[in-house]
Amino acid sequence: MKINIEGLEFSYNGKPTLKNMNLKVNRGEFLSIIGPNGSGKTTFLKCMNRILSPKEGSIFIDKYDLNRLQREDIAKHIGYIPQAERGAFPTTVFDTVLMGRKPHMKWIPRSNDLKIVSEVIETLGLNDFSMKNINELSGGQRQKVIIARALAQQPRVLLLDEPTSSLDLKHQLEVLDITREQADNDVTVIMSVHDLNLAARYSDKIIMMKDGEIFLGGGTEILTPENIEPVYGVSVDVRRESDQIWILPRKVTCK
Ligand code: ADP
Repeated sequence: MKINIEGLEFSYNGKPTLKNMNLKVNRGEFLSIIGPNGSGKTTFLKCMNRILSPKEGSIFIDKYDLNRLQREDIAKHIGYIPQAERGAFPTTVFDTVLMGRKPHMKWIPRSNDLKIVSEVIETLGLNDFSMKNINELSGGQRQKVIIARALAQQPRVLLLDEPTSSLDLKHQLEVLDITREQADNDVTVIMSVHDLNLAARYSDKIIMMKDGEIFLGGGTEILTPENIEPVYGVSVDVRRESDQIWILPRKVTCK
């Protein structure tokens, strides 16, 4: 689905946190949101899922005004993966993933729901754990289960809030490969991420947030030392080789 955001503003208790955000994301595009802690990434993702309701501006998903959509429709079309969940409800991997089907089913899962859940569990390599309690899994495995739950929802828009923050290298790549595959299958992906190298590697488009505003948006070409330093207060080297980019932090330049 195509996303069109105009003049979006959000305040917590009168404190402006998102300021005049304007953004377009095409169907099947992978957008990464980068920016320092506190710049508004999570708040933005929560507005996109209507966990928070902005007072100003509009968010259109295809031709639908997010503000006017029924909760049920939002749950059918938008998958949200919050920052690493702790103390999750103590249930099995299978039942957790099945929860992703809830917006699509009545009371009892049909065979199609069970089939989708089994397929997603297989795709994410969770077969060996499917009857385990999710609280007995490692952080990386649990994160995959949360992603599996969102994929079982078969969303058209996928929102991910720092999905790789607690993962080792292999799990980071696995999770982002799966996410990229979703975008390649026409799911619109919006992900907040700290690792600039991962953003560079997986995204079609990037926005850099600073103090609740979009400081800059574009393709990976915006990842230059001149753009990164004023946003993060860190000088970096950027190396490019064919279509690969590496960002190497040098030192803190602004305390
Ligand atoms: P990021 O995801 O980029 O780290 P957040 O969206 O979490 O940024 O936070 C943006 C700003 O909003 C920060 O100053 C943060 O302290 C503030 N904030 C976040 N959540 C709340 C809340 N529930 N109540 C009040 N202020 C909040």
